[in-house]
Amino acid sequence: MHNIDMDSVEMTLDVMKYALNRITMISPELGKPKKEEELKALVGETVTPKGIGGEKAFQLFKDVLIKATVPIDHPRHLAFVPASPTRASIMFDLVTSASSIHGAYWMEGAGGIFCENEAMKWLVSLTGLPKGAFGVFTSGGTAANLSAMVTARENWRKDENNVGEKGLIITSIGAHSSVKSMAKVIDADVLLIETEDCMTKADLEAKIISLTPHERKRLFAVVATGGTTNAGIIDDLSGIADACEKENLWFHVDAAYGGGALAADSVRHLFNGIERADSITIDPHKWLFSPYDCGAIIYKNPELAKEAHAQEGSYLDIFKDEGAQGFNPSDYQIQLTRRVRGLPLWFSLAMHGTDKYKWAVEEGINLANLAGRLISETEHVELVRAPSLSCVVFRRKGWSPDDYRNWTYKNHRDGFALVTPTKWRSGDTYETVSRMCFINPDTTEADIIAILDSMK
Ligand SMILES: *Cc1c(COP(=O)(O)O)cnc(C)c1O
Repeated sequence: MHNIDMDSVEMTLDVMKYALNRITMISPELGKPKKEEELKALVGETVTPKGIGGEKAFQLFKDVLIKATVPIDHPRHLAFVPASPTRASIMFDLVTSASSIHGAYWMEGAGGIFCENEAMKWLVSLTGLPKGAFGVFTSGGTAANLSAMVTARENWRKDENNVGEKGLIITSIGAHSSVKSMAKVIDADVLLIETEDCMTKADLEAKIISLTPHERKRLFAVVATGGTTNAGIIDDLSGIADACEKENLWFHVDAAYGGGALAADSVRHLFNGIERADSITIDPHKWLFSPYDCGAIIYKNPELAKEAHAQEGSYLDIFKDEGAQGFNPSDYQIQLTRRVRGLPLWFSLAMHGTDKYKWAVEEGINLANLAGRLISETEHVELVRAPSLSCVVFRRKGWSPDDYRNWTYKNHRDGFALVTPTKWRSGDTYETVSRMCFINPDTTEADIIAILDSMK
């Protein structure tokens, strides 16, 4: 199977033909899941001692299995945070795989890591962090948040008074679920500020004042959100930076979803204060048009991340010796062996230029504002709150949670759209509502109108 023969040439041509065909589709079929038994009955045994052959395996994939997936770049996929990788980035994802680059250490991956770092410099420049700030690409926002929390916690434990203590983090209920899950990984407690709206300096100060002396001692970090996943809300980053500075706390900004909007002049001011963060998460696979998976963690002082993450091992010494002539991405996050997953972003940025990225991000914001206007003008729906970044939270007047669920399933079953319900908290109650998140510049006004009409 490492030989080059007729089979492998045919397989290669088939794969390239498929890839070309798929990336030029504007509106790929909106697939839907089937039960595992159903899929098994349709494809039979695929992993056998003799193999079923590339042609057959690929046929099954194209005819059956791909149809049981949702293309996240479908223009009417507005659920969760959709994606819309550029065609250049997808093609370069193929090149990244074909090139077999180990992305952990400069010694092996220099040329690839150089490209990643060029893309990273642009990302860092969007944040406004001071000179010396830098970052690495991770598998996603979850891994980025974890890498930042480990760095913050290790830094806090340099004070030997904190060595035996369990850490404590403050965030708000608007924060992404991964913040709470990753706190479990590092065995830290999380205190939530009870707001899904913008977390303010006053909220944070009140929470800190309410802590017991022991809790205050255990508190080492605050996680603010730069664009909540549910509603695109940006916390008061300047105010939180003030409070963190005063209290000597690590200030992390989770901008996994919203970070792309740092490129958009129309909303950049909403992020003021982000330049004072100790660490920032941005997911290029969300709003910077990279294929999965590509997240990023950026540190004001990367040396602190290196102290926390650099792995030691006799087999790794060589990298720190002659290989240490460059940047080793593995030293700054939780993963050792890694794909140079920033390469597709680099190529697409190099090909198109950063102005096109600005334009494409602004398109998502324009679509959200357009959807907001259409909702205001339509009798059977209303806005729950004004659109923020590219998120629109709205209600269908008179609908129960079941109505929203049935509507989602029907649109999905019909291959029309994937738009899902969410919950919005007001006071002490959670109301089931719906939400649209725009990433794909190919989504049209007609798509939005058709989705609203499907709620009649
Ligand atoms: C999506 C998201 C994450 C998690 O990112 P993954 O790439 O899915 O791991 C974290 N934080 C926020 C704000 C997000 O929107």
